[in-house]
Amino acid sequence: AKSEPDTPICQFNAEMDRRSREKTQMVHDLRQALQHDEFELVYQLQNALDTLAPVGFEVLLRWNHPNRGRVSPAEFIPIAEETGLIRDIGRWVLREACREAAQWSRPYSVAVNVAPQQLVQPSFIEDVMDILMETGIDPARLELEITEASIIDDQAHTLKVMHKLKAIGIRIAMDDFGTGYSSLATLQAFPFDKIKIDRSFVQDVHKDAQRAAIVRSTLLLGAALDIPVLAEGVEVEDELSFLRGESCASVQGYYFGQPMSREDMRRIACDDDDA
Ligand code: C2E
Ligand code: CA
Ligand code: CA
Ligand code: CA
Repeated sequence: AKSEPDTPICQFNAEMDRRSREKTQMVHDLRQALQHDEFELVYQLQNALDTLAPVGFEVLLRWNHPNRGRVSPAEFIPIAEETGLIRDIGRWVLREACREAAQWSRPYSVAVNVAPQQLVQPSFIEDVMDILMETGIDPARLELEITEASIIDDQAHTLKVMHKLKAIGIRIAMDDFGTGYSSLATLQAFPFDKIKIDRSFVQDVHKDAQRAAIVRSTLLLGAALDIPVLAEGVEVEDELSFLRGESCASVQGYYFGQPMSREDMRRIACDDDDA
């Protein structure tokens, strides 16, 4: 048979088809990933800005796919959210993170990302309490990172959940600050213990007057509201120097290290004899 030359429309359809098959496959694989033990946690340092001493780690999820290798969370978290799988995956992350942090010899904090759907899950508080009991971690060391997206759906309910978490002694950080559409209103209405300035504002902050203004205002706001601010995505010395001149509490980014394996993290979080 004579083959037709591809028209742009055909290519487009073929591409759509390929993508949709890829996604169906990904959903299928993601459903099995927990049972097959394909998830792994990596840990990124958070340092105090004044002393540069470590103060904690943010836990980041990795998926080691049997054929595809490491899949980025930017790729699979949205699909996990769409399919609701994020609830089971998120609970697994929280349990593993607390189990790990409970064994550290240094009292570092452990920051865990919580997806919107987890927060509104009726069993969320109960799950958190179970995990605290089971692992024995001091709730004061646990920090949950939530984004504005968690809040817009059901504000009254979210507020209740946040107050319950705080009553347990858990701290709550506002993640990706500045990227949502009502960060200021959100900050006023909800009891956050920390603000994380998004990496997009921190990158090149020393070279870009607009970013500098945004970062400065956020730091002033944090100071005025008495909420410590962490700057994420610090990659170079100049960015760090800029922040040093301002009232920034802590920093995180490749300048201090990429997210690291459990073994590397333990070299920092555990004394030699218990690592
Ligand atoms: P995020 O919460 O804003 O996490 C920070 C992301 O920025 C991480 O990417 C981290 O590796 C990266 N990063 C940190 N420092 C630097 C830097 O200096 N430069 C650059 N270019 N990047 C830096 P990662 O691990 O790929 O995670 C991406 C996003 O996936 C996270 O963004 C978070 O929204 C989501 N995510 C990761 N783990 C989990 C999880 O366990 N649960 C949920 N719900 N979401 C997660
Ligand atoms: Ca494992
Ligand atoms: Ca985060
Ligand atoms: Ca971010």
